[in-house]
Amino acid sequence: MMPFAAIHLGPLQISVLATWGLVILVIGIILRIFLQERRKDRILCLLYHRVVPADVYAGFKERERIFSVSAEQFAAQLDWLKDNGHHFVTMDQVVAYLKEETPLPDKPVFLSFDDGCESVYSQALPLLTQRNIPATVFVTTDADTWIFNSGEYHERRMTEEEIKACHEGGIQVHSHAVSHRGLNEMSPADALHEMVESKRLLSEWISDDVRYFSIPLNFYNSATLKLCQEAGYDAVCVCDGATTNGGTSAFRIRRFIVEGSWGIRQFENSLQPRSVAQRRVISFLKKVPPKLLGEKRWMPLRARIFRSRLGPRLNFPNLRRAVLVAGFAVFCGLLAVTFVAFP
Ligand SMILES: [Zn+2]
Repeated sequence: MMPFAAIHLGPLQISVLATWGLVILVIGIILRIFLQERRKDRILCLLYHRVVPADVYAGFKERERIFSVSAEQFAAQLDWLKDNGHHFVTMDQVVAYLKEETPLPDKPVFLSFDDGCESVYSQALPLLTQRNIPATVFVTTDADTWIFNSGEYHERRMTEEEIKACHEGGIQVHSHAVSHRGLNEMSPADALHEMVESKRLLSEWISDDVRYFSIPLNFYNSATLKLCQEAGYDAVCVCDGATTNGGTSAFRIRRFIVEGSWGIRQFENSLQPRSVAQRRVISFLKKVPPKLLGEKRWMPLRARIFRSRLGPRLNFPNLRRAVLVAGFAVFCGLLAVTFVAFP
């Protein structure tokens, strides 16, 4: 047997072995994600932004095809969930389950809206009330901030009266910060201000406690989540393209976006563990550009990409295709280099 000391590896061979190590690590992480998504105790936490009339949706070309759903589509999804044995739960029930293991009904679904746009009141609230379905809206308090004045569809924030009407009508109101900017890139004092001030304002508007927070832009790190606790929140929602389960922290409740371009069949498929796991991998990759470039450089670039011809094509099936092709190319390239390095 050849002693280890006698094996001499060159820089190319070491790099190839290190890259294979990395590939195996990535495969391990992906396998873990697939196993997590297959857990029996999964909770589907769905994230919507805007619900618009069908004729308005038909005119969308850019990113609004992802961030809005038509009212008809939304109603069809609610009915499909009800008809297929899913049970709608409140954020309070989700948090009680995660913190105290208070049992949940079978196949639980938690509905949420981020931003607090006007259509949550005018379109979603009536559809939810008719069906007696609870939901939560996370409101950004500054009505003049960019989120209400950007994209191809400028939808204003709900008025204080509409916010109160949502809360009294069955859509719980909680916070989505003041200005909808990346909290992980602010000073801790500024981030804390976003959390405390929005909590204070919303509590005043709805005359009730505001206990939950949803991270704007999904830009967060462990320090951000700690600050949420410091600001007095009991739980935090993120959007990592994943489902939540019994092992999830109440300070990182994972949701995934329901894209407006889905038909009901695609909606059904998108709730399956395999599909959510794939979505979670894509969501992880989506976090890389803002992490590398920083919010200030990434957000204008993101807006330009959405406005370009590529914009409407940046949906989940296309991103999945791109990742599969890139992964396959990397694998073939690495295989070829391995044969060269170890002839
Ligand atoms: Zn948002």
